[in-house]
Amino acid sequence: MRKFNFCAGPAALPEPVLLQAQQELLDWGGRGCSVMEVSHRSPEFTEVAERAEQDFRDLLSIPAHYKVLFVQGGATGQFSAIPWNLFGGGVKRADYIHTGQWAGKAIKEASRYGEVNVVASSEDRNFSYAPAADAWQESDRSAYFHYTPNETIGGVEFNYVPEVKAPLVADMSSNILSKAIPIEKFGMIYAGAQKNIGPSGIAVVIVREDLLDRAMSDIPRSLNWKIAAEAGSMDNTPPTFAWYLSGLVFQWLKAQGGVEAMYEQSLKKSGLLYEFLDRSDFFSSPVDPASRSRMNVPFVLADEQLDARFLNEAEETGLLNLKGHRSVGGMRASLYNAVPLEAVEALVAFMADFEKRVA
Ligand SMILES: *Cc1c(COP(=O)(O)O)cnc(C)c1O
Repeated sequence: MRKFNFCAGPAALPEPVLLQAQQELLDWGGRGCSVMEVSHRSPEFTEVAERAEQDFRDLLSIPAHYKVLFVQGGATGQFSAIPWNLFGGGVKRADYIHTGQWAGKAIKEASRYGEVNVVASSEDRNFSYAPAADAWQESDRSAYFHYTPNETIGGVEFNYVPEVKAPLVADMSSNILSKAIPIEKFGMIYAGAQKNIGPSGIAVVIVREDLLDRAMSDIPRSLNWKIAAEAGSMDNTPPTFAWYLSGLVFQWLKAQGGVEAMYEQSLKKSGLLYEFLDRSDFFSSPVDPASRSRMNVPFVLADEQLDARFLNEAEETGLLNLKGHRSVGGMRASLYNAVPLEAVEALVAFMADFEKRVA
């Protein structure tokens, strides 16, 4: 029996997608083999790849002058790829907003290749909020401006898109496809698949065409967006199964009503949990109300001695993977697209009951 899974990543996948993959695993569409066992250059896989890209473009209304790439190396690979691809245009300097662990890693990596100007940081209050735009010191000349719209570990989400001079670059690993994106405000967007797209092993890049000519000359081939774009993301063998499965998720998303429906659903799910947390005397949210993530909801118990018991009993009740990130402790419920409203209802009911029994 499948249980309710709140894992931060790799995360829950839609059940109909898993069932279809299971059905097709041994004999894919009457071909007598699986999708994993054919050439990535075959007509049948090409169809899978192209359909996935088109569905993804449809879901996010991506204009024609943006390329969509399916790459390996995860979001972390892009922490390096971004400076490599954008520091070769004459400016080896970039602006970054520091909002927590993922932004911090992106900053550290970019600093190896050029100068990083941290325009704003929320470190003063333990990364519990998204900095407001008014206090920023943008560089006069900057190759790009990077931020993390949703900090997966801290549970902090920006409720606005920064208006900046340099091309805007965003790590949307944990909130892509959960609402509409004004793509034209961005130069480049990237996301590891394993939160809100598909299985791990693949990452998606959306990049404006005019940014494909700024790579440093010694960029590793596998990180080069232009080479990937010219080769249809098949300069070398792509992770075909992850690409196929992501495609099934895109079809499922379309059938659910697309990103608008996912947005409404995310407000309902996270709203239910935050409302409960704010009402409770025993559980609480450490995140500034204006910056609370719709995708990742960290929370703490009034008595941390009870953490282990909470997690054990949750697991026995069929509520999986609620332990917070090892670096921050406490609990975290990740409410990605594939997590149904019933999961959150069950979680809140369990928490209310737990509180009644222990408090
Ligand atoms: C998970 C995550 C990453 C790291 O992704 P990998 O694919 O493991 O490299 C980076 N940024 C954010 C916001 C994430 O949630």
